Amino acid sequence: MTVSLSSGDADTRSLTYSTYRRLRAEILSGRLQPGEKLKIHELAERLQVSPTLVREALSRLTADNVVVATPQRGFRVTPITAEDVRDLTRARIEIEMVCLRRSLERGDVAWEAHILAALHRLVHTHPEPGSVDENWADVHGQFHKALVAACDSRWLLQVREQLFVQAERYRWINVRMSPETRDLGDEHREIAEAAIRRDLPRTCELMEHHLRLTETMTLEALAAAASASLSVPGARTEGYQKAAA
Ligand SMILES: [Zn+2]
Repeated sequence: MTVSLSSGDADTRSLTYSTYRRLRAEILSGRLQPGEKLKIHELAERLQVSPTLVREALSRLTADNVVVATPQRGFRVTPITAEDVRDLTRARIEIEMVCLRRSLERGDVAWEAHILAALHRLVHTHPEPGSVDENWADVHGQFHKALVAACDSRWLLQVREQLFVQAERYRWINVRMSPETRDLGDEHREIAEAAIRRDLPRTCELMEHHLRLTETMTLEALAAAASASLSVPGARTEGYQKAAA
């Protein structure tokens, strides 16, 4: 039996998807802030779509763990806490190590070429200072994906991708609140070279250092955001308050 969608169903599905993508981009870029209440009717009006579509998109974002649904209180952007940053970093390091090991064992010449191409694009893409540059974030994500592309486990890669998306939420707070004190170009180049040499211990060491630096900067930025919320009454930083502890 063939099931065919009417064009109306297809339109609704693509509208649901585009609403989901827009809200997700607003959360990942920090336009919608951690802890912020997501009012369905306000969002529907602003995005010019129906409240039903917004509700569907928010339910889907709940599955991505970037939105939390609370009975009677509706939807909120998942708050960011210091504990969560530490736990996420630990999980990312563990999963990256496994994916890197399997990728380095299986990678061939095409995999090496793919890493070098992704690195080349990354070092020639310059993010807008002080803002979240979606293009840079995309090119950066592609580089990290290229490193683990030869890993032969779809499930491991899927879990890794989920953790990567979670960590993207921290990027905007870093760029807004921390001065750029690291040389990302060198960090990425060294990781790529170690991976292509099949030097697994060095690749893992460099990757851990890369992720730990992001963790440190994020924790500093969270502490700064929390103290700003204490000194500026009404500041929209309630989503970080626990991070001060
Ligand atoms: Zn990176």
